This record gives sequence, C-alpha cells and structure tokens, in this order.
Amino acid sequence: MDTSATKTRVVIVGGGFAGLACARQLAKGDDVQVTLIDRNNYHQFTPLLYQVATAELGSGDVATSLRQSLRAHANVDVKMSEVMVADPGSRTVTTRDGKSYQGDFLVLAAGSQANFFNTQGAEQHSFPLYSLEEAERLRSRVLAVFEDADRDPGLVDKGALNFVVIGGGPTGTELAGALADMINLTLPREYPDLAVKRARVYLVEHGSALLAPFSAEAHDYAARALQRKGVRLLLGQAVTEVATDHVRLSDGSVIPTRAVVWAGGLMAAPLADNSGLPRGRGGRIDVQPDLTVAGFPRVYALGDFANIPGADGHPLPQLASVAQQCGVWTATNILAEIAGKPRTAFHYHDKGIMAMIGRDAAVAEIGKKRHELEGPIAVAAWLGVHALLMSGVRERIEAFVDWAWNYFGRVRPIQVLDRCNENRIDWGEDTERTTTTH
Ligand SMILES: Cc1cc2nc3c(=O)[nH]c(=O)nc-3n(C[C@H](O)[C@H](O)[C@H](O)COP(=O)(O)OP(=O)(O)OC[C@H]3O[C@@H](n4cnc5c(N)ncnc54)[C@H](O)[C@@H]3O)c2cc1C
Repeated sequence: MDTSATKTRVVIVGGGFAGLACARQLAKGDDVQVTLIDRNNYHQFTPLLYQVATAELGSGDVATSLRQSLRAHANVDVKMSEVMVADPGSRTVTTRDGKSYQGDFLVLAAGSQANFFNTQGAEQHSFPLYSLEEAERLRSRVLAVFEDADRDPGLVDKGALNFVVIGGGPTGTELAGALADMINLTLPREYPDLAVKRARVYLVEHGSALLAPFSAEAHDYAARALQRKGVRLLLGQAVTEVATDHVRLSDGSVIPTRAVVWAGGLMAAPLADNSGLPRGRGGRIDVQPDLTVAGFPRVYALGDFANIPGADGHPLPQLASVAQQCGVWTATNILAEIAGKPRTAFHYHDKGIMAMIGRDAAVAEIGKKRHELEGPIAVAAWLGVHALLMSGVRERIEAFVDWAWNYFGRVRPIQVLDRCNENRIDWGEDTERTTTTH
C-alpha cells in the first residue's frame, strides 16, 4: 500500500552539505516523505575543488551520487532539476522544466555563487571556484595556457604563464599554494621545452592580510609559506578591471594574464532572488535562531544560502561544518514539530578552522590554539579533518589514496584538457604590453 500520501511532505532544494544532512536525518522519521531537488545528480565536496582545478584529484574523487547516498532511504526521493522560483506562502517550488513540488515544510539550501562586486569584466573573464564544473573549467584553462605557450614560447612574454588569484581568503590562499606547487614541482617535467620557471602566481587581496578569519600569527605563517613557494603577494590592492588579457589593480598597474581566478567573495545562489524572502548580507536569506524565516514558520533556509545568527549575534561563517550541522538541526526541528514539540534555536558546535597552503603546509585553529603543520603530517591532518565532512566511505578512501599517491609521486594524473569546457584562447594583439606591470 502506498502510504506516502498520508506522510508529512518535506521539499528540500539543494543536495549540498546542508540539504544532504537534512535529508539523511529526516529519513529517520517514519511518517515523513522527502523530495530532494538538486540541479546536479551529485553532491560536491567543495573543500577539495582546488585539487581538481590543479589536476591533483579527479572529479570522481569529489562528487558523490545523490541517489547512491540516499538509496538506503525509501522515503527520500531525488529529483535532478533546477529550481527557478520558490513560493514561501504555499511552500511550493517550480523547476526549470515547469514542474512544481509542494511540501508541508520547505527547506531552502541552494548554497552560494561568486560575488563579483561589480568589478568590471570579472564575471566575463575570470574563473570562479565554487562548483565542480567551475573547477574543471579552471583546470582546462590552466592546462590550455601551458599547452599554447609550449607551442609558441613567445606567448610567455604576453603573460601566458601569469596566474592571478583574486581574494586572499581560505579559497584564494589554498588555490595559490596549489598552483605554485603545480608549477614548481610537476609541470617542469611535463613541459621540458618550456621555461616553466617563468610562470608566476599573483595573489591579490584588498585587505592587509591573508586568511582573514584566522589569527594574526596565521596570517603571517600563510604569507611566509606562500612566498617560499614563489607566490607574489599583492596585499592592500583591489582589482579594478579584469579583461581577456590582463587585470588592472587599484594602483593603476596591469598584470598581463589569461588565467584569472575569482576567489573574491560569495553571495547567495540566484534562487534567493526569486524567493520573495527577506535578504541580508550577501543577498542571503535572513533566518531566525531556529532557522525558519520570520512569517513563514514552515520555511527553513540553511547553510550558505542563509544569514544564520551565531551565539554572539553575528552571522555564522559560510562553512561546510555550519551547513552540515544546521541541516541536521532543521530535520530535528521538523520531526519535533510533527511530534507536537517546540522547535529549538540552532547551536553551532565550532570545531575550528583549517587551511592547507600547498602540499606541505597547513594552519589549523582549534579553540584558542593555533597549530602550524608541515609536510605529510599537514596533508594527513587536513584530510583527516575533512574526511569527517565527506559523505561516503568510498570517497574518503579513494581521495586519500589518490592524494597520498600524488603527494609522494609528485604527479598530476588528471591533466585532462576538456575542450567542451574551454574555449580556445584568443591570443590576439596584446593591447597592454606597454603598460607598467608587476
Ligand atoms: C573552493 C572552496 C573550498 C572550501 N573549503 C572549505 C573547507 O575547507 N572547510 C569548510 O568548512 N568549508 C569550506 N568551503 C565552504 C563550504 O563549501 C560551504 O560552506 C558549503 O558548501 C555550504 O553548504 P551548502 O549546503 O549551504 O551549499 P552547497 O554545498 O554549495 O550546496 C548547494 C547545493 O544546491 C544546489 N543548487 C543551487 N541552486 C539550485 C537550484 N536553483 N536548484 C536546484 N539545486 C540548486 C547546488 O547544485 C548544490 O548541490 C569551501 C568552499 C569553496 C568554494
């Protein structure tokens, strides 16, 4: 007998850290029927995206099938579709193909997208790093400039091997370190005829330090670790323009480049625009301490999609651990409400933060303690900490084995230049060659 009609229906948008955790926890409720909608059929493990972008890991190491992750739960249905509109009043969402899904509860967990802060040309010409698709595009661009420069070494004078990373937060810092390692350790062997040592990684940060959420000592440690790898730090500088062949900085200088990575900020995914819900910083949905939206007691917003008040009144940071914990909390609140019990305010259990700076350095802050780690221990600690966030045991083991193999072998087996994702670079005439450069 089909009992789904009598069950409480919950519609979840987004199978990221928040949505997936929520679905798994809800699945434990006997009288609940969950529909999880994601525009992809996989969950992406974002902390490892920069390893995909620098050819250290393959896409399969960081993506898990949502259906496989949830197949043990008969009361969870997965739909691959992009939600275009959410109507909080009726708790209904409508997908790109015109289908509507209505729930007794609606959970919005659609994550983030890059925020270009209206920087001229940034959206058109830079490579953000928030999704697996974006990581694959960036990898193709990095490999494409090396292939082109290998065929025509004159392109190096046009800045072909200049890589500019915009934003010195954790994503930009980690990526700059990984790019430097790729250039220093792997590519000289792959391109013996090319002057790979002329490649440059620039990290541009408009603030005065890297890794803003960390302590001052960690800022210095990260800066020293990157400089040791040859990364040029441009602190206190903003990018004012990104073009096909250069970036311009706030001091008027120009860096010729064909590979600009945007790690300069995040805002809520586009669905927030079409939800009619109150939005605060970063366009994120403002939620109450119990994670519901004011005026809509059965509508929740979670993870990166929401401004979640922390214990000190400030919004919690955009972290996988925050997203995962609030996914579980939301499910618990929904199950409580179904059982006639009150909802409770979300409490985030902060286990600390960690950033990997290339393959041999990491900084971790747990409580008031700071740990600087070097070499294989740094890699193992980072993976150990993040393995807890990974959804599948298989992925944990495979990513660990692949990464360890590449670490000791200094190889990048995933050097796949995907032309579907990468338009050929138009090298044209470089208009900026006469301008001051770094
Ligand atoms: C490069 C990088 C490295 C990071 N490293 C770390 C780290 O080391 N540690 C850490 O704690 N955090 C890290 N983060 C932050 C962390 O990834 C986020 O905080 C976390 O992913 C937020 O989870 P979420 O579920 O809110 O969103 P996401 O994980 O982004 O999931 C959102 C989901 O919604 C789907 N979606 C979006 N729009 C729609 C739509 N309209 N219709 C259907 N589906 C939709 C997406 O496909 C996606 O699956 C990193 C982020 C990045 C970009």
